[in-house]
Amino acid sequence: MTITSLDELKSHLNLTEKELHWEEKAENTLPLLISQNILSLIDNPSIRRQFVPSEEENIDTIGNLDPLKEEDNSVSSRLIHRYPNRAAFLTTDRCFAYCRHCFRRRFTGTMTGPASEAEIAEAAAYLKEHKEIKEVLLTGGDLMTLSDEKLDYLLHSFKSAREDIIYRLCTRALVSSPERFTPEFFKMLEKHNHHAPFFLMTQFNHAIEITEKAIDALIGFVKLGIPMMNQCVLLRGVNDTLDQQIELCNKLMYNRIKPYYLFQGDLVKGTAHLRVPLSKGLALEKEMRKHLSGLSMPQYTIDLPSGGGKVILTENYLVSRDRNLWTFKTPDGEERSYPEDF
Ligand SMILES: *Cc1c(COP(=O)(O)O)cnc(C)c1O
Ligand code: SF4
Repeated sequence: MTITSLDELKSHLNLTEKELHWEEKAENTLPLLISQNILSLIDNPSIRRQFVPSEEENIDTIGNLDPLKEEDNSVSSRLIHRYPNRAAFLTTDRCFAYCRHCFRRRFTGTMTGPASEAEIAEAAAYLKEHKEIKEVLLTGGDLMTLSDEKLDYLLHSFKSAREDIIYRLCTRALVSSPERFTPEFFKMLEKHNHHAPFFLMTQFNHAIEITEKAIDALIGFVKLGIPMMNQCVLLRGVNDTLDQQIELCNKLMYNRIKPYYLFQGDLVKGTAHLRVPLSKGLALEKEMRKHLSGLSMPQYTIDLPSGGGKVILTENYLVSRDRNLWTFKTPDGEERSYPEDF
């Protein structure tokens, strides 16, 4: 069962005043959509906060709908070429469930639909021209809402234009619709699993999202030798405690997923109530680093407003720099120096 309105949701949950007063407005385009798998987890407050809309989305006046200036960096209707060596292709605006923190809400769930054959051909031609592009993120929306036939067509078109590009398969369907990863899907993917490698980019924001069904689907990628990386969004009241982050990172590692990024929330209109202050995020990062191995520690990252690009945030260990001496503090708070010249 899929939930598409507050009325339907009322029969499953006792909605709070703030949830009841949410209004779907043009200004705030993200629709209400909760999949069967999300519904089965909705009693968990971290899941509820990510998928049940609240009035707070409507009253947020900070930010805008495109803080990363993706529209200015779009080279075709679907291709964003922000960094010289990599690009993002918006395969579709659809998802199996809409996350209330979605930073691409200017596009997500706008009923634009899957990329047309003409749009795919246009992007493929651009990739062919631009040999400096080494990686393409297949994103959206959620790539996995496309049918196997459409995915097959897309991969065939792109791989025929350039076989040396690494494709990142960006999806949240392991959380919102793990049953989508059928044997037929993997058979289709296997056909294209040659030349440059695929990378699976997941978005697990909380350990509870890594269900048995999700783990079964992940095995399909492991069997194809596809490396897996997680991009988590730091969200207030969802995953902003040390315990939650440690449990998530350890569970990811046990399932062969490398925690890649921990994203600071973007200044997207309608998401202020889900953001964590930078000082709190940095304090969390400092503690996480003490409790996690280098492999299991994600990079805390901010995508700077007005299209400034991604910058890594970390506790500052540099105390001072004289002409010939750098002085650092250790994670335990002691000082150590290292020379500039030898
Ligand atoms: C984040 C992003 C990428 C990928 O950046 P990495 O740091 O390599 O993960 C590529 N294109 C766009 C538009 C992005 O926002
Ligand atoms: S799955 Fe991704 S694109 Fe879709 S609503 Fe969630 S964050 Fe946005």
